[in-house]
Amino acid sequence: MQSNIIDGRAISAAIKEEVREQTRALKEERRIVPGLAFLLVGENAASQSYVRSKERACELCGFHSTTVTLPATASEEEILARVDNWNIDPDIHGILVQLPLPDHVDEDRVIESISPLKDVDGFHPVNVGKLVIGQEALLPCTPAGIHQLLLRSGIETAGKHVVVVGRSNIVGKPIANILLQKAAGANAVVTVAHSAAGDIAAYTRQADILIVATGRVNTVTADMVKDGVVVVDVGINRVEDASREKGYRIVGDVDYEGVGAKAAAITPVPGGVGPMTIAMLMQNTLNAARRAADGR
Ligand code: NAP
Repeated sequence: MQSNIIDGRAISAAIKEEVREQTRALKEERRIVPGLAFLLVGENAASQSYVRSKERACELCGFHSTTVTLPATASEEEILARVDNWNIDPDIHGILVQLPLPDHVDEDRVIESISPLKDVDGFHPVNVGKLVIGQEALLPCTPAGIHQLLLRSGIETAGKHVVVVGRSNIVGKPIANILLQKAAGANAVVTVAHSAAGDIAAYTRQADILIVATGRVNTVTADMVKDGVVVVDVGINRVEDASREKGYRIVGDVDYEGVGAKAAAITPVPGGVGPMTIAMLMQNTLNAARRAADGR
């Protein structure tokens, strides 16, 4: 592997191994098995596949997991009732409602119905607020994974200029807030650019660390970065590729070849940020189980 590549697969595997080991110790010392509940609504193939991967990770880490699938016609009340049952179930430490939900369901209302202590996706407004004001919180998994990639690759963030391109609630805003905190492994100067920024190159060229989450191929090309930049590419895009059996391949939001040639470090797609999300879900669930055991 090229020397400047940040290997998300290896880092994710290391985190899952740590979680597995700590779960074993939690079982032995305190008789607690972390439990994660999944709610799937409807038959979205991508959602089913994501939940299967998460179930496999639970098995690997030694967690107990349960999946309930409701039909796409399930009412909001049925969904809320299911979440309520898990909110009071002492064997369940994490609740994950796989998004998106059908159009007739108010996603915000469902997310807000999850106990913040079991909100292992980190989307509940209580956890979002705690993140912003620097209190201990369950962090959303993809940004938490990006943070771990930087930490574990020994990339200094203190005093560095981090430019985030994209301001979604699941990636851009939370990673900006994580890196802005006055804390070890953060303490960066953060700029957030988005589609109203006009010439985004004016921002990306100033970045010491550039995090790109737009969902658009080639949002950042080589002329838009300085030498020695660290690049985290969050994008997952399908592009047609007749040479592949499936007829497509997956690329990120960054021109990997061009930008990679100038970068001090870069995440590949696939194999960069992608594998981190599930690892952080496992870490969040273990943390939630520990906190429950401590009565916090
Ligand atoms: P999103 O909700 O669509 O947000 C995209 C953001 O990018 C928006 O803030 C948008 O600006 C901004 N944007 C779009 N085009 C731009 C441009 N040309 N210049 C500057 N800003 C631009 O997307 P998301 O959910 O954050 O996801 C982003 C990408 O990450 C997607 O490819 C997604 O598949 C991937 N992703 C990967 C993982 C993972 O690896 N596990 C997890 C989540 C997401 P406005 O706000 O002005 O519209």
